[in-house]
Amino acid sequence: MSAASYLTKEHERLRQQVRAFAQAEVAPSVEQMESSASVERELSALIAKQGWIGVTIDASHGGMGAGHLAKTLIIEELSRVSGAMGAIAQASMLGTAKIIHFGSEEQKRNWLPRIADGSCLPTIAVTEPGSGGHVLGMQARARRKGKDYVLTGRKVYVGNSHLGDLHGIVVRTGRGSKGLSAFLVEADRPGFSLTPHRRAMGLHGFSFGEIVLDRCRIPAANLVGDIGDGLAIAYSSSILYGRPNLTAVALGLHQAIIEETTSFVLERKRYGGPLADLPTIQHKVGQMQSRLMTAQLAAYHAVHLLDQGQPCDEDLINAKHLNVEASNDSARTAMEIHAAAGLQTDRALERLVRDAFHTYAPAGTGDIQLHRLAQKALGASRGQWSQRLAPATTASPGTRGHSPGRLTWPSTSPEHL
Ligand SMILES: Cc1cc2nc3c(=O)[nH]c(=O)nc-3n(C[C@H](O)[C@H](O)[C@H](O)COP(=O)(O)OP(=O)(O)OC[C@H]3O[C@@H](n4cnc5c(N)ncnc54)[C@H](O)[C@@H]3O)c2cc1C
Repeated sequence: MSAASYLTKEHERLRQQVRAFAQAEVAPSVEQMESSASVERELSALIAKQGWIGVTIDASHGGMGAGHLAKTLIIEELSRVSGAMGAIAQASMLGTAKIIHFGSEEQKRNWLPRIADGSCLPTIAVTEPGSGGHVLGMQARARRKGKDYVLTGRKVYVGNSHLGDLHGIVVRTGRGSKGLSAFLVEADRPGFSLTPHRRAMGLHGFSFGEIVLDRCRIPAANLVGDIGDGLAIAYSSSILYGRPNLTAVALGLHQAIIEETTSFVLERKRYGGPLADLPTIQHKVGQMQSRLMTAQLAAYHAVHLLDQGQPCDEDLINAKHLNVEASNDSARTAMEIHAAAGLQTDRALERLVRDAFHTYAPAGTGDIQLHRLAQKALGASRGQWSQRLAPATTASPGTRGHSPGRLTWPSTSPEHL
């Protein structure tokens, strides 16, 4: 089965639409984003206006209701032209998961239509300076004060930190794995602030910065799910949205790396002919193409299963691992093929290589993915979020967006993402 055989005519149409948009609207701004490295507000608003952040939001809440494979295609096509714009789209698509899966009917009615029409960008904030992948090590906390909760602490590396209007923040409300809860925090609440945007190695235009909560008071109605659901919200968001979203960013960058390299080897003349005539170069290009085809197949297969309501947590985890590894391996091969030319900042390759590095840490590092896959091999898996939340993830109209009911995670929760 080829990767393309997973796509319907609607998927193909969507791909062409996003590709045309990326070429016309995003490509002309890439150079400016690279040099300024500031947060790109105009383009992100334009992307949100297309309705794409609401790709998995049910039509009854104003979304596209097009599912997870469609989401992959949108992120992939944006990332092919700009990893930063793919990252911006994915971070807010990720921010929708907690509301779709755990939100009350009122929260869904209030927020999903605004996210779908592009007027509100959501995020999810789990990581802290002292915890990282060790989610249960978090220290930020919420205390009940009458009809409100008061939040205090810091969150770091929050995707779309400086663009988000509605942050989904997971904090401690008690001890242990049942002691985490998630809250919706509007960016204009007193006590909410951001530290200044910092230039990173790659993904220029994207922000993954720091949120500071200094006795930030929010109504109790902003609690998502129940008290104690925070770990389930963090894990399910990461597995069902974070993993496939980063898979798609890596896939788009991988395609761009290969496109840059093939045009380079066809143009570059050595020994009286194009570089592409050298057997060693052909071998390397063949390796890159093989990696891409395998990675793309894993990516589409995993989200296809998710759209079908099939258990697929390990497929999503494996697809993320494979796509990150494959795109970074191809980035290195591409640099070797380009030799000195690859180091020049007027070529796209140098940017693509830097951007590819950014796909490793989010939604679980490679070590975490391998740990989860080892659990599967050893028969120690602890249940499937894809199965538990299937009523809210399947692509058949009329089922997605329905409340999955009360969810529990086994008492022996893993410590990490
Ligand atoms: C571009 C980008 C976007 C991001 N977006 C978000 C976001 O939207 N929201 C959010 O909350 N966070 C986000 N993050 C943060 C991301 O989730 C963390 O970087 C990730 O969880 C790892 O945490 P850490 O970087 O602190 O590394 P650590 O967890 O401190 O890991 C350090 C090293 O130890 C290894 N390690 C850690 N635990 C284990 C283990 N159990 N077994 C074996 N090895 C282990 C790691 O693999 C790594 O090599 C983002 C990060 C990036 C780079």
